[in-house]
Amino acid sequence: MSDPHELKVLNPATEEVVATVPAAGAQDVDAAVERAARVQPKWAALPPADRARQLRRFADTVDRHIEELARLEVREAGHTIGNARWEAGNARDLLLYAAGGTERLLGSQIPAPGGWNVTFHEPLGVIGVIAPWNFPMPIAAWGSFPALAAGNAVVLKPAETTPLTALRLAELALEAGLPEYLFQVLPGHGHTAGRALVDHPDVAKIVFTGSTDTGREVMERCARLVKPVTLELGGKSPNVVFADADLEAALDPFSFLDNAGQDCCARTRVLVQEPVYEEARDLLADALASVVVGDPADEKTRMGPLISRRQVDRVRSYVPEDAPALRGVAPDGPGFWFPPTVLTGERPDSPAAGEEIFGPVAVLLPFTDEEDAVRLANDTPYGLSGSLWTRDIGRALRVSRAVRAGNLSVNSHSSVRYWTPFGGFKQSGLGRELGPDALTAFTETKNVFISTEGPAQ
Ligand code: NAD
Repeated sequence: MSDPHELKVLNPATEEVVATVPAAGAQDVDAAVERAARVQPKWAALPPADRARQLRRFADTVDRHIEELARLEVREAGHTIGNARWEAGNARDLLLYAAGGTERLLGSQIPAPGGWNVTFHEPLGVIGVIAPWNFPMPIAAWGSFPALAAGNAVVLKPAETTPLTALRLAELALEAGLPEYLFQVLPGHGHTAGRALVDHPDVAKIVFTGSTDTGREVMERCARLVKPVTLELGGKSPNVVFADADLEAALDPFSFLDNAGQDCCARTRVLVQEPVYEEARDLLADALASVVVGDPADEKTRMGPLISRRQVDRVRSYVPEDAPALRGVAPDGPGFWFPPTVLTGERPDSPAAGEEIFGPVAVLLPFTDEEDAVRLANDTPYGLSGSLWTRDIGRALRVSRAVRAGNLSVNSHSSVRYWTPFGGFKQSGLGRELGPDALTAFTETKNVFISTEGPAQ
């Protein structure tokens, strides 16, 4: 039996215990929110340039610890070392970008007869951030850093399996001189600490990233308090490949294998136009066979393990032994491994083609023409991301407007940049993170009318 008062962090590549961390309960959440509410008004009252300077010092401190943070991410989440370095760098860069936003959090002046009308972006207060295990460091940063820059305090609950990089970021914030209790990290279980944060009346907003089912519950609980919420949920994103595309680039298997497929933006529905279907299948078969899966700390490794035994079992449930598929290889022995896989015999309405598997598994499906491609791409309750590949610019423009998803790329598989907006349509979420409006999402707009007519008689 595991102790509900502690979290055991396992190295997913070896199954060894990396650390044991106390699990916060509801009372710990209450105490953290109370402390955060005490320091937040002083932080909000600082001149924006002072807040910016402190956040830049935090960024410098993160920068000096990139390698340490990356190695920690490798140990607790099994990310390849190259990816983990990028993730730590992403946290640093977002801090710098958000810091620049403090002085640009501009209101407007709206013409009104008899006086002046101005708007202000007021900070909300204490923000609760609930992060998942798939990108522990960047997602903690995306929810927290713009909120801090906008003048809020943050209480962050990382996922049960991956609390270590978030805890280290909070230590680095203190080391950089940020006020005590402004950015607190409370590891804990979702059904205790997570719920307590969501239900707390003094938490002004929740930023949740994780599964659609849990996101739905979080939204229902927030509704009781009319609490705003940002939701970044699941995905089942299409990769639409027309016959005129650069097939080798379009069928890069890392469009769905990055982070062992535990990526809400993974392009796991590979839709290929019929005339090039066979060629696409052969290209994918060759590409999968050459993917190096193994020790994530090895610089040559391209794909590491999954996060947990539970996740391996879940992924395996979608891939029966006898399913028609293209398969790569994964290590045997300790660790949570699953080979890169493309299912080739699925129907568009099968569970594997419709549900978020969250592992290194894609489905390959043919389509006939542009209309069929758009229909298939949109045939999902999700709408987070997607790619489309064609040399016909008119078609690229038409299809990119017709596909109902928040983050699309044309002739590229790129998706997330800290300076562009990120978020989903439909059941992939609500609200946007990152980009030029990231800070505004953590403010209320206040309108003030100032009469020029003197006090009313
Ligand atoms: P989850 O959604 O249950 O957990 C995400 C976070 O929410 C964790 O920090 C967890 O502790 C917290 N949480 C759980 N229940 C809560 C509650 N009732 N109230 C408040 N917070 C709560 O995800 P999971 O169980 O770790 O993974 C299950 C599946 O979710 C995965 O297999 C995958 O399909 C999907 N998932 C998607 C994403 C994504 O980014 N889209 C991320 C993680 C998991």
